[in-house]
Amino acid sequence: MSKKTHLYLVIKCNDCDFFFGKRKKTNFSCTRCGEIQINPHIVGRTNDTDELHRLVSLNNIPEELRDDFSKLDIKADIKKTPLEEKKSIPQILKGSSNDQGEIFLKDLKDFLIKNKFEIDFEKVIDVSESEGLILRISNEKWLMLG
Ligand SMILES: [Zn+2]
Repeated sequence: MSKKTHLYLVIKCNDCDFFFGKRKKTNFSCTRCGEIQINPHIVGRTNDTDELHRLVSLNNIPEELRDDFSKLDIKADIKKTPLEEKKSIPQILKGSSNDQGEIFLKDLKDFLIKNKFEIDFEKVIDVSESEGLILRISNEKWLMLG
């Protein structure tokens, strides 16, 4: 036996074929049918609870769908952040502009820090310019449009 220890196990129920995660040294009763696994069918090991959840849900998807599903999952993750960021851009522009609708680079940066936005100021400017929300006056000054 190797000395490397894993805290969690992914087990396939011998009775109902359901996959479930268990902490090592607990009783291995199936979380679906309740059957205690006398000879647990261990299909995976991990130390990470997120990984455990991922393994369990991935294994419980019918095999023919699994590939598609894992691809979908990754796609959704990539798309999520930019959309959320994009939504916050009008708010950022409004918050960092002055009464004349001018936005100075310094004010934009300050606004992002003060309000704990994780979006990069360069990205705000990039997206805003390409969407026609702001007009570049100089390298440090923009005018809000509309
Ligand atoms: Zn079961």
